[in-house]
Amino acid sequence: MARILIALGGNAIKQAHEKGTYEEQMRNVRYTCERLVELIKMGHQLVITHGNGPQAGALLIQQETGVSLGIPPQPLDVVNAMTQGQIGYMIQQNLMNLLKKEGLNIPVATVATQVLVSKDDPDFQDPSKPVGPFYTKEEAEKLKQEHSHWVIKKVKPGEGKVYRRVVPSPDPIKIVEADAIRRMVDAGIIVIASGGGGIPVVEKEDGTLEGIEAVIDKDKAGERLAEVVEPDIFLILTDVEKAYLNYGKPDQKPIDRMTISEAKKYLAEGHFLPGSMGPKVVACIRFLEWGGKRAIITSLDKAVEAIEGKTGTHIVPD
Ligand code: ADP
Ligand code: MG
Repeated sequence: MARILIALGGNAIKQAHEKGTYEEQMRNVRYTCERLVELIKMGHQLVITHGNGPQAGALLIQQETGVSLGIPPQPLDVVNAMTQGQIGYMIQQNLMNLLKKEGLNIPVATVATQVLVSKDDPDFQDPSKPVGPFYTKEEAEKLKQEHSHWVIKKVKPGEGKVYRRVVPSPDPIKIVEADAIRRMVDAGIIVIASGGGGIPVVEKEDGTLEGIEAVIDKDKAGERLAEVVEPDIFLILTDVEKAYLNYGKPDQKPIDRMTISEAKKYLAEGHFLPGSMGPKVVACIRFLEWGGKRAIITSLDKAVEAIEGKTGTHIVPD
């Protein structure tokens, strides 16, 4: 029996081709939870984190649309908190229903999680993470006037809706609710935490916390969560069974196992794309350098087989 920290990717909640209706998302989350229950039935203890890209994107559009109805838009830290509640609820309910069917009485709870970042993080100087809808040049100009602190960049070549708001994606430093989460996990509760990379907060001079408009990568925040709950295995579940060398090229090659040194070398050679596989590999490297023993990247469907060592990309200490 192992303690496993699972980082669920976007496909666990919404498939790329779907709109993201309530029914679609509930169906996906149920399927995801069925996979998780297989692991629980094997005797493993789970801690769960998850992404929120499409849900946060939709909520941001709803914030903007509400302005014309006189409803004040909420900032990004609040939007992240809303998606933690939304997705946490869906996971809690599905997991509880499935556990009940199996006759397993394990409590499940979601923790609204703040994650500390630094105001001095270089990404605040040059924001890199696109969020929300695409805009035309005219719309972009208007929005820049309405929101003086927004940075809007052209994110696609050509004309039309090719502009998007970009926000900083600072490195997570630590999980604010660490003590609460650790105690809950040690008490046997299945905890869902740090969803969507966590609510980004900075520490003021007087030591108090304040939300900040940024988005933290969920795999990197998941690694900080791992430092809190000390899992035997850090399991990143996404939509590919393995990480590849030369990904997308005719000579692409799946990686079954790589050491920290090999992972660093492949990362430097550019095999893992910056917005997707890159942060996953970085998170695994950090986990092992912190003292973790096993990190695995695989698909949701292959979670059980990967834990059994039959598939997935396994990252191990040198
Ligand atoms: P998630 O929502 O699970 O975080 P991402 O889209 O961020 O999903 O990351 C998974 C994606 O990473 C894959 O669908 C794949 O397109 C992309 N990717 C980039 N580089 C690689 C690589 N070297 N090997 C495998 N997948 C890669
Ligand atoms: Mg991702």
